[in-house]
Amino acid sequence: MDDTPIGRAAQQAVEAMHRAGEGLPRPEQTRVMVVANQKGGVGKTTTTVNLAASLALHGARVLVVDLDPQGNASTALGIDHHAEVPSIYDVLVESKPLSEVVQPVRDVEGLFCAPATIDLAGAEIELVSLVARESRLQRAISAYEQPLDYILIDCPPSLGLLTVNALVASTEVLIPIQCEYYALEGLGQLLRNVDLVKGHLNPALHVSTILLTMYDGRTRLASQVADEVRGHFHNEVLRTNIPRSVRISEAPSYGQTVLTYDPGSSGALSYLEAAREIALRNAEAHQNHQHSTAEGNQ
Ligand code: ATP
Ligand code: MG
Repeated sequence: MDDTPIGRAAQQAVEAMHRAGEGLPRPEQTRVMVVANQKGGVGKTTTTVNLAASLALHGARVLVVDLDPQGNASTALGIDHHAEVPSIYDVLVESKPLSEVVQPVRDVEGLFCAPATIDLAGAEIELVSLVARESRLQRAISAYEQPLDYILIDCPPSLGLLTVNALVASTEVLIPIQCEYYALEGLGQLLRNVDLVKGHLNPALHVSTILLTMYDGRTRLASQVADEVRGHFHNEVLRTNIPRSVRISEAPSYGQTVLTYDPGSSGALSYLEAAREIALRNAEAHQNHQHSTAEGNQ
């Protein structure tokens, strides 16, 4: 990454946030996180790619799985995803190994992407008649041998078989919530699906993280919505909000994340901070768990 100007600038932004040499704790096992909300346009894709890039800039190895036929995450990461490119469709429907479709992301070391092509639009129907239709992504991820710290899965705005595959493959659900009217509308349906998948297919699944996006601190509405969400999900909501930022929305049209597009912008810094919180909270929870297990053994 150091050999490109934007890579250097992004690295400098990360270093500006840390004392020299202070890295973030890496998870003991790969954390597989599904970024889901069946509401459209709430910032799922934006959050997936910018958090992934932030975690990678913090030193982690991160894979983005684009599970949305729109392929927006692939576009934002500058990954070629025209119809002939080997993609997540081949993995889900044709049982191609994940390693054969993963591509490195230019400019961000340690960041990789399994792209989505337009073929994926048909997968929702094609999957119905396949064996183990809900767990095909999970199987592909289990068989993937490259070491990774995080896998972030970007979902389409629906609760069909693609999203179910993501829920079965993950241990954590990350829900981006847009600070607008009706922010919580429809969330009950997502939470019920999470419970269903947890009960029947994936006992480890839980909502670990909620991120408030497109936060406009100048409006009362935004802070009201934020208070309401924090009231409902006391422990899960990150302290960091993502501000509404033109730089964040411009970056994808250059095939970049905001971390390389404008590393010093408020949007880039907020995603870096959110990534830091995600890494630190997990490490703290892990330490507390070890502590209580040790006490229990005494
Ligand atoms: P879909 O449901 O269609 O997949 P999504 O939930 O993935 O949508 P995004 O595509 O990430 O949502 O974001 C929707 C739109 O809002 C995009 O145009 C994006 O650039 C813009 N956007 C996302 N986050 C921000 C932000 N913090 N500031 C400004 N614009 C944003
Ligand atoms: Mg999206």
